[in-house]
Amino acid sequence: AEWSAAVRMVRELASGGRVLLICHVNPDGDALGSMLGFALGLRSLGVADIQATFPGEFEVPAPFAAMPGLDLLVAAGEAWADPDLLIIFDVAAESRLGALADRLDRARESIVLDHHASNTGFGGVQLVDPHAAATSVVVEQLLDRLDIPLDRGIAECLYIALSTDTGSFRFDMTTPRVHEMAARLIATGLRPAEISRRIFDSRPFGAMKLFADVLARAELEPGAAGGLGLVWTYATLDDLARHEQRPYVLDALIDPVRCVAEADVSVVVKQVAEGEWAVSLRSKGAVDVSAVAVALRGGGHRLAAGFTGYGTPSEVMATVRDQLNHQTAI
Ligand code: 5GP
Ligand code: MN
Ligand code: MN
Repeated sequence: AEWSAAVRMVRELASGGRVLLICHVNPDGDALGSMLGFALGLRSLGVADIQATFPGEFEVPAPFAAMPGLDLLVAAGEAWADPDLLIIFDVAAESRLGALADRLDRARESIVLDHHASNTGFGGVQLVDPHAAATSVVVEQLLDRLDIPLDRGIAECLYIALSTDTGSFRFDMTTPRVHEMAARLIATGLRPAEISRRIFDSRPFGAMKLFADVLARAELEPGAAGGLGLVWTYATLDDLARHEQRPYVLDALIDPVRCVAEADVSVVVKQVAEGEWAVSLRSKGAVDVSAVAVALRGGGHRLAAGFTGYGTPSEVMATVRDQLNHQTAI
C-alpha cells in the first residue's frame, strides 16, 4: 500500500508540481547518491520543477564533487518553503533534517525512503526497509515501480550510495541482492575502479597528516565493552585548522580505527563546535552500537551508528562507556 501511494504521488507530479528532495545533515554517499539518483530519475520522467538540498553547511564533500545531478542542488535557504511533494532520503529522525524539518508540515505530501533500524516513523508515506544495505536499494525499487530505466547518471549516483554504505561490499548487509543490484548498475557502463578511487582512495596530503596526529592519540581499552575491547580517538577543530582541512575529511577516520584487532567497538569523537562533538560508533558484531547511540539521542544501524555528544572528549567517552556497560550487561 505504501509503495502504490508513493508511485501515485510521483506520477501526479509528472503533470506539474514542485518536488523538493532532501537528505540528512553532513550528507554521506548514500544520502547524496540516493537523493540525486532519484532526482535524475524524476527528471527523465519529465518532472520539471525539482530541487534537491540538505540542511547545515552547504558544502559537497570533494569525493562527491563529480556526482551526476549536482546541478539540481540548491542551498537550503533557497529551497521551496511549500513544495507539492517532499521526498526524504536516508534520514532516521526529524532531528537529522535541521532547519528543513519545517517542510514536513508545509509540504502537501511527503515520502520517506530510508533503511535505518532506528527510523522513528516520521513523515507521510514511509518506504523504510531496515534490511536494505543502503537507502539506494529502496530508491532502485521505487524507480523500478515507476518504470524509470537506469541510465548511467542514475546508476553512478546509486553505485556511490551502495558502495559507501556497504564499505565497498564488505559489510554485514552485502547480500546476493546487493551484488545483483551492483551488476545492474555496472551494466550501464559506469567504471567501478574510477568511482572507488574518487570516493575512497583520494584525499589531500594534509588530511593524511591530520589522520597521523589523530591516530597517534588513539587509546585502547581492552577491558571495556564487557571485555570485548574499545578503541577510540578524537579530533578537534584545531586539528582541522592546523592541517587546513574541511570537517568532512574526518568521515573516513573511523575506518583505520575500526580495524584495530584488539577491540570490538571503535569510536571517533569529532568536534563540531565548542563543547559539541559528532560521535561515530562501529561494532564488529557482538555489541549493538545503534542501541548505544539511540540511548544518547542519536541513531544508526546495529554495527554503525552515531550521536551528538557534549563536554570534553573524556566526558563524551564516559557516556559511551556507561551505555556500553549497560548494553553488554543485558
Ligand atoms: P557515521 O559514523 O558514518 O557518521 O554514521 C554512522 C551511522 O549512524 C549512519 O547511518 C548515520 O545515519 C547514523 N548517525 C550518525 N550520527 C547520527 C546522529 O547524530 N543521529 C542519528 N539519528 N543518526 C546518526
Ligand atoms: Mn547516511
Ligand atoms: Mn544510508
